[in-house]
Amino acid sequence: MPDPLDIHFIAESRFSCNSCGKCCSSNFEIPLQDTKVSLIKKSSSYKTRAKQGYEPLRVVADSFHFLGYNDKGQCHFLDQSLCALHKHEGISHKPVICQIYPYNLVQTPDGIHVSLLYSCPSVVTGRGAPLEQSRDALQQLFETSQVPVLGPVREHILVTQFSTVTWQQYLVVEQSLWKHIDLEDPVAYLLGAANSLAVPQPWQARFDRRPKSLNKLVSGPFQDFAGSVWAFLKETDDEQAIPMGKPRTDLVRKTINHFLRNQIQGKLLVIGPSMVARLVLLACALNILLYELKARGPTIDAKDLEESFAFIEERLVSQSNEVEPALLEFEEYLLEMNS
Ligand code: SF4
Repeated sequence: MPDPLDIHFIAESRFSCNSCGKCCSSNFEIPLQDTKVSLIKKSSSYKTRAKQGYEPLRVVADSFHFLGYNDKGQCHFLDQSLCALHKHEGISHKPVICQIYPYNLVQTPDGIHVSLLYSCPSVVTGRGAPLEQSRDALQQLFETSQVPVLGPVREHILVTQFSTVTWQQYLVVEQSLWKHIDLEDPVAYLLGAANSLAVPQPWQARFDRRPKSLNKLVSGPFQDFAGSVWAFLKETDDEQAIPMGKPRTDLVRKTINHFLRNQIQGKLLVIGPSMVARLVLLACALNILLYELKARGPTIDAKDLEESFAFIEERLVSQSNEVEPALLEFEEYLLEMNS
């Protein structure tokens, strides 16, 4: 269980739930611990729904319980945009994953780092209460429940499949990476950063200038790579190179800034498979985001941003397992280019 002071929040990060109900209508796979199953089964919310013939809890292989959904992908406990368990029985009756959504929690050598998931529309708008205000509630949750965290991140961080840095070296690299971030051209910046780290001594990497080999990368291989990932996400055989995109409005730049701050300062670069692969993943995700936004026309509003961020977060950034082999192959290409 973390000490309260070992829970780290990102400065300026804000969130308040606006009860839009999207996370309860997304067919998320939510496993339940046995104690939670008994608690829920005793609740009036459960009994009412079971009596009506619904299956609020889905049972797999006779013993594993998950939240059940209707054929529109809505949780059976969703009651006019609110969770019936939360409303009638109290927050402790909700599955822990629902209690912490939309937080990402990463266990590192210096404690738990909290960042936000961009599948939640309220996160994309960047409004709400400072995240810091949820410290006590999170600490209490750690004291009473088994909270799912990413990691643990150990003392040695994989920069590529063949090189590591210590946690302290990582923190220096992260600071420099964030200090030089280029919001006018974030895709090229992330790709250049991945390229700079794909070397035998990554702790000496510099991010204040573009690597010379970046031009070769952005003129072809990366655009093809982004195109193949896009086709995979869209489940189409129509693989086309995706041209390098740049944010065209202040709103897009500002939202990308928050998104990358969450990814980098939230320590999501170290959760695997390697820092370089993760930077390539982010470059690819942002290039797809900008491509999707461009297809929506010259004026981008908050709704366009919410939907496009939800697409890359749900399909790619939080679900990178399926593209991991391709990311590692791209990493090998970078290593070869720099050898
Ligand atoms: S998607 Fe976000 S804003 Fe909407 S109900 Fe879930 S946590 Fe609240």
